[in-house]
Amino acid sequence: MMLYDSHGRRIEYLRLSVTDRCDLRCTYCMPEGFKGYEEPANWLTFDEIERVVGAFARLGVQKIRLTGGEPLLRRNLAELAGRLSSLPGIADLSLSSNGTQLAKHAQALRAAGITRLNVSLDTLDPARFAAITGRDALASVLHGLMAAKEEGFGPIKINMVVMAGINDHEVDDIVAFCGERGFVLRLIETMPIGETGRNAGFVALGPIRERLRSRFGLVDGVVPGGGPAKYLVSPDGRFQIGFITPMSQHFCETCNRVRLSVDGTLYPCLGQNDKVDVRALLRSGCSDEQLEQLLLEGIGRKPFKHEFDEDPAKVVRFMSSTGG
Ligand code: SAM
Ligand code: SF4
Repeated sequence: MMLYDSHGRRIEYLRLSVTDRCDLRCTYCMPEGFKGYEEPANWLTFDEIERVVGAFARLGVQKIRLTGGEPLLRRNLAELAGRLSSLPGIADLSLSSNGTQLAKHAQALRAAGITRLNVSLDTLDPARFAAITGRDALASVLHGLMAAKEEGFGPIKINMVVMAGINDHEVDDIVAFCGERGFVLRLIETMPIGETGRNAGFVALGPIRERLRSRFGLVDGVVPGGGPAKYLVSPDGRFQIGFITPMSQHFCETCNRVRLSVDGTLYPCLGQNDKVDVRALLRSGCSDEQLEQLLLEGIGRKPFKHEFDEDPAKVVRFMSSTGG
């Protein structure tokens, strides 16, 4: 089964938020003192998540990424991961994490079938880490990364959101850090999602890409499973840097994903406000056919593109509540 939206794009990827809570407060993501969390009674239970993912899988979605908020704050996440990775049709289960709790959970998550891991890391300077995230937790993240490497996660990708005057001077240090440890680096442009995203110090990545290309002798490359990132690779292919440029070079025409937030809202596009309430149907005692029909309708309503340029104030929810 293959699933297509109304613009002919194949949809094969679900980003599944398992919590909207987080132990960090990255300046570009969540506002300080944020209180607008979803009530636990509205969180999809593991049974409900398994049912929705099963329906997505029957429709043709093969790849699931657990995200949040910080997914490792959801209790018994490894149990959920094990249930999802053994569903028929799910070929790939991955995780995005801020890494603070990774050391504790890496073994159980790997055993539960998660293979690919993305960890956010915007700086290697402890004081700057605290300034960006609101917590003095760089050492825990680095410890978590090493634990994940020992457990055999692969690839491990480092997501760095590049911000003007905050960490843009650290790009080369993070390139070296990733190169030495075998991590794939992805540089990300800030998106105007919520007030936080709009005030984050946008930097277009094009000039940085060209500088890194000549400094490290990199060439254009294709990375399997690389998603929307455009990659530069070393001539032997061993080192890879992805550039995620939703603002300066949008990639909506190749978008293959939808998002489900912890309260069971389906967001067909990160950069638009369209949404579908899946939880209400699930809790009304629906049949599998009704559930699949609703997911198809939601995917059918996937907008063609974001309007971050035309209408930067449009998306008022925060990345942590949609599921980044
Ligand atoms: N807490 C986990 C983490 O930090 O990786 C997973 C959720 S987080 C919302 C997912 C990704 O979204 C992270 O790589 C983060 O850097 C990115 N992100 C959050 N807000 C953003 C924004 N306004 N613009 C661009 N990327 C953003
Ligand atoms: Fe938390 Fe991730 Fe958002 Fe940072 S980017 S506040 S770690 S959800």
